[in-house]
Amino acid sequence: MKGDVYIASSTDKEVLEKAECGGVVTSLLKFALESKRADAVLAVKARDGNRYDGTPVLISQPDKVIETAGTLHCTSPNIARYVKEYTDGASDLKIAVVVKPCDAKAIIELAKRTQVKMDNLILIGLNCTGTLPSVKAKKMMKEVFGIDPTDVVAEDIDDDRLVITLADGTQKEKTLMELEEQEYGRRENCRRCETNIPTMADIACGKWGTSDKGTTFVEACTEKGANFIDAAISAGCISIRQPNPEAVQLRRKKDDAAIQSAKQWQERDFSSLKQMSSDERFEYWFGQFERCIKCYGCRDACPICYCKDCNLEADRGLVPPGEVPPDIMFPMVRITHVMDSCVNCGQCQDVCAMELPLSRLIFMLNRDLYDIFKYEPGVDIGQLPPLRTVTEQELSLSGVDVAF
Ligand code: SF4
Ligand code: SF4
Ligand code: SF4
Repeated sequence: MKGDVYIASSTDKEVLEKAECGGVVTSLLKFALESKRADAVLAVKARDGNRYDGTPVLISQPDKVIETAGTLHCTSPNIARYVKEYTDGASDLKIAVVVKPCDAKAIIELAKRTQVKMDNLILIGLNCTGTLPSVKAKKMMKEVFGIDPTDVVAEDIDDDRLVITLADGTQKEKTLMELEEQEYGRRENCRRCETNIPTMADIACGKWGTSDKGTTFVEACTEKGANFIDAAISAGCISIRQPNPEAVQLRRKKDDAAIQSAKQWQERDFSSLKQMSSDERFEYWFGQFERCIKCYGCRDACPICYCKDCNLEADRGLVPPGEVPPDIMFPMVRITHVMDSCVNCGQCQDVCAMELPLSRLIFMLNRDLYDIFKYEPGVDIGQLPPLRTVTEQELSLSGVDVAF
């Protein structure tokens, strides 16, 4: 039932050999196809074996699922956007999707906007404490670790360290702090991210709370997830045992430590902006927006942006066409349309051709809105975004100043 937790591992020899942490996720995906609970599986695969080039793949044959085994940290594909393209409109494709917490949250926000049908999806979540930007990660392997990036066969973020494993089995590690002070390490949004265990997905899988490398700690987060796990156990795809209280406690402790670290990064990222006067903040952000080349990358990458008929298009008359930098309405529309629901996925900032700190701004505003409405994006599918439901009276009573 919902809330049940297990220590689990795959019963499939091939999966056990290739996958990490006991191969539970790979076996659940195979089971989804074999049992016809899903028509397809959406997971990420290293393109041509290049682990810095993780590509979403839609798989319908169970024997192909093994190609997605293993975790890729140096890639951050836009899974929610991908799901939307395959499940919108008349499509009734049933998909089992492997999600990080930010992917799951973005999918839930899309569901609230009727852009995806949750009944067609089973979200199999992975614990996540960060992903690394691909190009910088390769540079980091060379310049900081002194190795050929193609020699890396695995990365892991364990507590406050990045551990990499090379083809010859040797391991190298550095603290995240050391790397991040040199502008390497995790993506900026990941440092701020407080959601490490994807409890908003149907199933949450991760190594926290396990004591050996051949197992995964699994939580059934919804009734759908619980039924799915029960069926996979009955079919003999995974074996399980109950975690002891120490394992449950260890998982909680690891999560708490990661949340504390994220809060410190939020303080670090936001404090200088928050200390500015309103005028200074406007000046800072308008100075950033003046560098915008209106490539539309941020709009097109944001999983929360979904309008087919976007106000920012030249023929809508809101933003004068042909102007670079664009009229201030361009970033303002983007910001106001997504700030109540921003899931801090960082996709906008990753694609920005001018490297504007977009997700830092929008997520900072999102946290201000949280102080007013207590609305946590992507968590409760029954709760609508506040800017869709707020009244003027609520805003005037809030007494909280939401400003750049
Ligand atoms: S934003 Fe959070 S969930 Fe998403 S990749 Fe970064 S750390 Fe993981
Ligand atoms: S605004 Fe940026 S960080 Fe927020 S949900 Fe959209 S793409 Fe992700
Ligand atoms: S991605 Fe950057 S440069 Fe492109 S439109 Fe958005 S803010 Fe402007």
